[in-house]
Amino acid sequence: MPKNQEPLDANVQAKKKSLQKIKGGCHCQAIRFEASVNSEAIILNCNCSICKMTGFQHLIVNHHDFKLLSGKTSLSYYQFNTQQAKHLFCQRCGIKSFYQPRSRPKSWSINVNCLDDFDPDKWQFNDFDGINWEQAQAELNHNY
Ligand SMILES: [Zn+2]
Repeated sequence: MPKNQEPLDANVQAKKKSLQKIKGGCHCQAIRFEASVNSEAIILNCNCSICKMTGFQHLIVNHHDFKLLSGKTSLSYYQFNTQQAKHLFCQRCGIKSFYQPRSRPKSWSINVNCLDDFDPDKWQFNDFDGINWEQAQAELNHNY
């Protein structure tokens, strides 16, 4: 192997090491999913009108790192305001375990409260000022 490829391989290995498999779903278990996330990902606590009510704590995962294992036909959705986010929930138990956020069109946002064996001490949490969405989004794009 040429010497100049070594740093790249080291990077790939480091990335693999920090990836973590997570699993979760809704309360009645109709909806189940798994995903790969960077273990250094930051969980966002949002104060917008809907997240405040649901207690949704956001873990953002690329669409291609997420797999819906079951429950596709159990999903319903709710939209409001700009109609860009798609707030998915289980038709049976009403739990919103993941959804399509407005802030990240190519990612899902998973509710960490819906994960199996979630240990909050192992993750970093930040606030997202969703009631002032445009400004909060600009800061998010700047910082992450
Ligand atoms: Zn359910």
